[in-house]
Amino acid sequence: MVRRSSWGETLSQRLAARAGWRTRFAPAPTGYMHLGHLVNAMHVWGVAGAFGGQVVLRIEDHDRTRCRPEYEAALLDDLEWLGFEADIHPVASFRAVSPGQGHPARQSDQGARYETALHELTERGLVYACRCTRRDIAQRVPHASGEEPRYPGTCRLQQVSDAESWARRVRLEPETFVFDDLRMGRQVQHPSRQCGDVLVRDRHGQWTYQFAVVVDDMAHELDVVIRGEDLLSSTGRQLQLATLLGRPTPPLFLHHTLLVHADGSKLSKANHDTALRELRQAGMSAASLLGEAAVRAGLLPVHRTLHAGDVPALFSV
Ligand code: GLU
Repeated sequence: MVRRSSWGETLSQRLAARAGWRTRFAPAPTGYMHLGHLVNAMHVWGVAGAFGGQVVLRIEDHDRTRCRPEYEAALLDDLEWLGFEADIHPVASFRAVSPGQGHPARQSDQGARYETALHELTERGLVYACRCTRRDIAQRVPHASGEEPRYPGTCRLQQVSDAESWARRVRLEPETFVFDDLRMGRQVQHPSRQCGDVLVRDRHGQWTYQFAVVVDDMAHELDVVIRGEDLLSSTGRQLQLATLLGRPTPPLFLHHTLLVHADGSKLSKANHDTALRELRQAGMSAASLLGEAAVRAGLLPVHRTLHAGDVPALFSV
């Protein structure tokens, strides 16, 4: 069962003054939705429903090489089938505006928003061009396997001309970020030591996840970020970027547990984990699938059918 301990209270106290506070469901359409996404959706809609929040739907298709419109369409169908409807930018709004036509919550349509944010940081001397490839960095910086290498600041020191590469990094001065995750408690992160200057646009001109997510979380006025604990290590650098961009109050964070395979590996599209649509095509009902996901995520002790509207009750006292 969910042990809310004090976080439900913290959430209520911190957000009491803000009626209709906002959180978001922000999937990347790089494959079909699987059980891991469903568990994230249950946390997002569950916590929002239990504590008076609103859900923003955002399509995180910043990576043009991996995202596909057919995955976005499938994702919208799956959400509708499951019964999760966003309060802001609902499914129908994405269907009404095709990619490229300027939907306010589809990342591939936000080039101007990211340009403006980059320009602001550039004006303040915080941005530099970088010609290092990922491979250069991995080779140059000693790091344990599976760990991210810290960018050593090579191009910060060399003053690469802007014309040499599309890639841009933002300087992260040494700073410590402390935040109280609603589930995981106090966290202390030092982004400049952990990842070094953060890449905001890559050498192909694509905006990075770290930058797009911070700019959009500000644009969408989000109060609470609810996501899997695999993203916990990104939080410090996102807080630092948000501070540089002038965000006055940081969001609250809730990093939930991830579903794993028996051997401990993460569910993922790359592992060919069963897509929800395959289960649907095999005749499974949405209510049965929601029950199954709730049990696997530790939100229910034994399986029962569950509708999207029942999910908030799993999170209230
Ligand atoms: N788009 C990211 C994903 O699908 C989630 C981003 C976030 O929650 O910050 O994993």
